[in-house]
Amino acid sequence: PLPTSSPRSSPNILITGTPGTGKTTAAGMVADAAGLELVTVGDLIKQRNLHDGYNEEFDTYWLNEDKVVDEMEEMMAGGGMCIDFHTCGFFPERWFDLVVVLRAGTQQVYDRLKSRGYKQNKIEENLDCEIMQVVADEARESYKAEIIMELTSNTIEDMEDNVEKIVAFVNGFRSSHK
Ligand code: ADP
Ligand code: MN
Repeated sequence: PLPTSSPRSSPNILITGTPGTGKTTAAGMVADAAGLELVTVGDLIKQRNLHDGYNEEFDTYWLNEDKVVDEMEEMMAGGGMCIDFHTCGFFPERWFDLVVVLRAGTQQVYDRLKSRGYKQNKIEENLDCEIMQVVADEARESYKAEIIMELTSNTIEDMEDNVEKIVAFVNGFRSSHK
């Protein structure tokens, strides 16, 4: 039998990485420049209560992966989505045409999370996460190597280059999926 799922004409993109690597900034720029619909998963979780309560120790919500996937399934079906979240292994592999992992240096992550007012233990947890390449490893375990783009996000120039690369991917995808 032929595959029943119709191919997307516009790609779904995931922008992932440790908090402070620049996901939300990049995702907003990409969504604007490429005409994708932006979903900041952290905000969606809060707005629609897709969590298992508040984690006092780390000032964050306990993630309920099933609730998040169920809530997002319909929005992903048509393509053209730009998804921003700091973890990536629980999303269905079939959702994404491109998985961008943003990487930043220890000093950059530290300064960005400090100025966001994160508590010391939360900063350290995230620094360890970035140093240990947790998100990059998770992406490699969860998605085909061909769709993963690992990009450095230390400077404004990096950010602009990254946005340009991602937008170029979107345009290339669209012209080959007409
Ligand atoms: P995330 O969503 O991954 O936590 P944000 O996009 O919120 O990261 O970025 C955190 C802070 O760092 C913001 O103040 C943002 O302007 C800044 N920032 C992000 N990426 C870069 C970059 N490549 N160069 C300089 N500043 C950046
Ligand atoms: Mn963010």
